[in-house]
Amino acid sequence: MTETSRLAMGPKPGVNYPLDVLYCGNCSMPIEYCEYYPEYEKCKQWLERNLPSEFEKIKVNDDTTEGGGDEEKKRQKRGGKGMMKTKKKDDGPKQVCVSRAPRGKKKSVTVVTGMSSFGIDLKVAAKFFGTKFACGSSVTGDDEIVIQGDVKDDLFDVIPEKWPEIDEDFIEDLGDQKR
Ligand SMILES: [Zn+2]
Repeated sequence: MTETSRLAMGPKPGVNYPLDVLYCGNCSMPIEYCEYYPEYEKCKQWLERNLPSEFEKIKVNDDTTEGGGDEEKKRQKRGGKGMMKTKKKDDGPKQVCVSRAPRGKKKSVTVVTGMSSFGIDLKVAAKFFGTKFACGSSVTGDDEIVIQGDVKDDLFDVIPEKWPEIDEDFIEDLGDQKR
């Protein structure tokens, strides 16, 4: 094998290529490979300008053979940033609710609900709050933790710091519970 033939790209002499192989001016690949090229969008733009008839074919392929694939692609693109931030799943609403409830004449407790919707062990969370705020904290219900102290406002910093998956936006302030 000679140096030149090893390095040669594209059509080789002596081979009968079908005449209808069209090469993309953007990525220099046969146009049917454009979709594997990272800059497929630019390829499509090139095709639209230079080979409008081929561009139409690709468009038709996109719409029919992938069966809603277009929609999926859009969604993936859109999800890009959002996914990073929220890791949202479609398994029901996730939200932590915090509220203040009166206890005795002057004191308040803080009620936290919804921690388990993030898959957080309530016992672990209650213990963490107790340590963090140096006060009593216990699991009081199915998905409820009561912290013996008015720490509601602090939770907006403390919870996302401890559990990064719970963004501050997921914490709903229910305000003061009435007696
Ligand atoms: Zn291309």
